[in-house]
Amino acid sequence: MTDTAAYPFTPVRAEFPFLATSGYGPPPAYLDNAATTQKPQPVLDAVLDFYTTANSNIGRGFYDLSRRATARYEEAREVVRRFVNAAHPDEIVFTRGTTDATNLLAETFARRLVGPGDNLVVSGMEHNSNLLPWRRLCERRGADLRIVSATAGTPVRPEDLAAALSRRTRLVAVTHVANVLGTVNPVRDLVRVAHERGVPVVVDGAQAVAHLPVDVRGIGADFYCFSGHKVYGPMGVGVLYGRRDLLADLPPYQVGGGTVKGVSHDSPVAYVPVPARLEAGTPDIAAAVGLAAALSWLDGLDRRAVRAHDADLVRYAVTTLTGVDGVRVVGDPTADPAGIVSIVVPGLHPYDVGGHLDQHGVAVRSGVHCASTFLDELGLLGTVRLSFAVYNTTEEIDRVAAALRTLRAGEW
Ligand code: PLP
Repeated sequence: MTDTAAYPFTPVRAEFPFLATSGYGPPPAYLDNAATTQKPQPVLDAVLDFYTTANSNIGRGFYDLSRRATARYEEAREVVRRFVNAAHPDEIVFTRGTTDATNLLAETFARRLVGPGDNLVVSGMEHNSNLLPWRRLCERRGADLRIVSATAGTPVRPEDLAAALSRRTRLVAVTHVANVLGTVNPVRDLVRVAHERGVPVVVDGAQAVAHLPVDVRGIGADFYCFSGHKVYGPMGVGVLYGRRDLLADLPPYQVGGGTVKGVSHDSPVAYVPVPARLEAGTPDIAAAVGLAAALSWLDGLDRRAVRAHDADLVRYAVTTLTGVDGVRVVGDPTADPAGIVSIVVPGLHPYDVGGHLDQHGVAVRSGVHCASTFLDELGLLGTVRLSFAVYNTTEEIDRVAAALRTLRAGEW
């Protein structure tokens, strides 16, 4: 890769210690960034610094150290607010990740809206984490889960969403970027269509935040969820953005320390306002601080150049891999590239292809990617998925192609 003023690739890659020392032999070509990204040095430093200089619990201690830890946690919330362009810091709830956020919404917001005969609408390309919480809720409440078909793997069309809505639709949940094919959905238009019918929308941003600038107010989403570890941050922390008026009267998801003003055995429990009401127990404070470092670090790059780098890798992968005899790219990831290319090798199980690539020093995800219902719609057993990050190179894609050639040559 070449360095440009807009995208100084070499120093960007050099910020990721993992890519230099994987712990066992030469580092793999790490192409499973949709599962989790590697972490740049500023994120590792921020986590270490928290534990070294500010480690104490938050919101509970009347001493300086605890106040400092609380301040760092709240500063992290403010960094997230800016990153997604939310209006208020109290619209940012720290969760354990996207899965935790969608479950929280199903158990609090949606549970109160949905009754027998109602319906919820999701797209056919959802990850299980933005499908199963809604499905379980429907099963429990006697409601229907409607699916907007995604057979072709193309973006969900606003007119198809409109056709799925009815007077009894209580919620729409849709992914911003799909994790199997990298499809970018027109979330702003989908939100508009739902809002015209008065239906709130949850957007799963797990695969979007590392690739696209996200503006929750521009999108108009009622709720937007993502995971820290997929955007160069630590594991164990994620974000639920919710519009202030919608979050304000949510009941607690879990109850316990940090959620109450006071408890006595003979009076009703009085809960604190959001976001603390939705963050029961001790959160992963260091991870929230690390997430803020990750978002600040990413925002310090030229986001348009990051997008262009993504697109270059996607186009290069499509051209290179379709040049390998027998390899088929699923869908058209070049239409609106978001760092994901899924391939199949007819006649070979994706696990076997993934295992073969592993033996050639390439880490990719293979299988159904927690989206077996979508793979069913596509009529595929699974795919081999290459997913890119800021540090990936065309040389790494060449390694994939070279390994696939040996597979096709029967050397496996
Ligand atoms: N949604 C999408 C689109 C994803 O790709 C993933 C993870 O791969 C998730 C949700 C779940 O994220 P997490 O496991 O971090 O909760």
